[in-house]
Amino acid sequence: MESNEYGSGHSESGHSDLLIVGAGIVGLAHAVAAAERGLRVTVLERDERAVGASIRNFGHICLTAQSGRALDYGLAGRQRWIDLAAKAGFWLRECGTVVVARAADEFAVLEEFAERRGGDQVRLLDRAEVAGRLPLLDPATVGGAWLPLDLRVDPRQAVPALAAWLAAEGVRFHWGAQVQQVADGEVISTAGRFTADRVIIAVGHDVDRLAPSAAAEVELRRCLLQMLEVCPDTPVPVDPAVLSGLSMLRYSGLADCTAATAVRQRFQEQRPDLLDLAMNLMYTQRPDGNLVIGDSHAYARTHLPFDEEGTAELIIAEARRLLGTDRLTVRRRWRGVYASSDHTDFLITDLDPATRVVSVTSGIGMTTAFGLAADALTT
Ligand SMILES: Cc1cc2nc3c(=O)[nH]c(=O)nc-3n(C[C@H](O)[C@H](O)[C@H](O)COP(=O)(O)OP(=O)(O)OC[C@H]3O[C@@H](n4cnc5c(N)ncnc54)[C@H](O)[C@@H]3O)c2cc1C
Repeated sequence: MESNEYGSGHSESGHSDLLIVGAGIVGLAHAVAAAERGLRVTVLERDERAVGASIRNFGHICLTAQSGRALDYGLAGRQRWIDLAAKAGFWLRECGTVVVARAADEFAVLEEFAERRGGDQVRLLDRAEVAGRLPLLDPATVGGAWLPLDLRVDPRQAVPALAAWLAAEGVRFHWGAQVQQVADGEVISTAGRFTADRVIIAVGHDVDRLAPSAAAEVELRRCLLQMLEVCPDTPVPVDPAVLSGLSMLRYSGLADCTAATAVRQRFQEQRPDLLDLAMNLMYTQRPDGNLVIGDSHAYARTHLPFDEEGTAELIIAEARRLLGTDRLTVRRRWRGVYASSDHTDFLITDLDPATRVVSVTSGIGMTTAFGLAADALTT
């Protein structure tokens, strides 16, 4: 068995209490919960490091804008993120989120949302207060809301740091170990045969490759997102994560407000191009000052491999308006993919008494993984 940069390597596969397939945030969250209970944990990851959705995202622990189970998972995982950042030594900001309203109907959504949630979760801001928190701002801004509980991490740093810390805590990692078959506690992989009392398959959007019946159960599709990293000509600190009116159509806590209907209708009339791309205009700042901006959403089981430059240009144009500046230089572009289902936000299903498939099918795995993992390991 090969050694690797995080774990010690093992001459034989051995038996674990829990074996996890996939070292994205969902797999790692299960490893944290299981290791904490004193279980012997093994993680098998096909790549040499995690390069999936878990490092391609905004790093936004966007819990307040969720509702129902997602909100519960987000709230349950919040303190976990803060504790792990301290233990594993990764960058985390208790920065909150500002939702920017640039039309009266958008502010009406925020008023309704604040009324529903109360001041611990949502505080309304007037235009000057938004400007006080966001140095780069569309002059058309009418107000906003402050969601103090939300957090921000740099996923490119947090995910490998978490894996390294888990390895130091005794979790066995096998990188470059592609799992081919799982049944009844036996796992066949390119790194050999493993056995475990229990197996969690946490392979993100690739559930259909390893567990096609589980994917079929929820008609799993891949959601494809185009993302960019930009640098303002005059770099300024923007501490909170920033959401916009389009986010009010996406995150259920906001979208469920009665007032959101008018916002959708206005976009339908004035900017159907943005709705066609299911755009969620938002941004977060990375530790180096660059801004991660996005994003578009396209749904299919299989996507064509071509990224549309028109989509990227539209994201940049809308980001320029939201930031109130034309002076942005694009530093990086990438595509992200996550699992999606119209039937459920979270896939938790058993293939046999020892094998459970867990996937976030709603694009909020950074927000929900820790709450979800605690649930999936106990139920
Ligand atoms: C562009 C983008 C922006 C997003 N922004 C946010 C955000 O700001 N906040 C938020 O909460 N969520 C966000 N999300 C969603 C979030 O990133 C995902 O929900 C989450 O990362 C999914 O984690 P995962 O571990 O299930 O999947 P992944 O990170 O994709 O990890 C799955 C792992 O399984 C491995 N694997 C697959 N098959 C096998 C196999 N056969 N054998 C071994 N290993 C295998 C893969 O290599 C991969 O490393 C965003 C997603 C994207 C794409």
